Amino acid sequence: MGKWHLWLVGLSLGSDRGFISAGSPVCGDEAVCPICGEPMIALELEGVEVDCCVECGGTWLDAGELEQIAELAEAPPGPLTDALGAAGEGKHGKRRCPRCRGTLRIITVGKEPAVEIDRCPRGHGLWFDRGEIKTLIREFAEGEGGVVAKFFEDLFRYELDETREGE
Ligand SMILES: [Zn+2]
Ligand SMILES: [Zn+2]
Repeated sequence: MGKWHLWLVGLSLGSDRGFISAGSPVCGDEAVCPICGEPMIALELEGVEVDCCVECGGTWLDAGELEQIAELAEAPPGPLTDALGAAGEGKHGKRRCPRCRGTLRIITVGKEPAVEIDRCPRGHGLWFDRGEIKTLIREFAEGEGGVVAKFFEDLFRYELDETREGE
């Protein structure tokens, strides 16, 4: 509860920048999908906890987790960090941050293909629509992305299986 408490204190002090960059407020809180409003499930990928929505297949990454995932995919962290920085403030979006409920900004990252992702202006993290994270990782890993690409492929397969069983 300690971290969660600190997180709330941070917000009430009006600290809107950088305070949360250490990571997610607490494990086990109900992060809600910015698109569906459904609670997301927390999955672990080689020690990195990612929040996934089984409804829409989107993924939320807390601050710093994209860099960790890029590392797992053996992508050099520099270009990715640069691309995120170069994206600037982005466009005004409609979706809400699962951590602070603030409105996410839409940024464009990468080339061929460029991927539009949602970013919390308070630095909580990034939202990827289904498939976007794999696209981005592949681009920056300059290859298949190894374990990371496989993880998100498996996730997608799991989702398809679930759908089929439900019919
Ligand atoms: Zn969703
Ligand atoms: Zn936020």
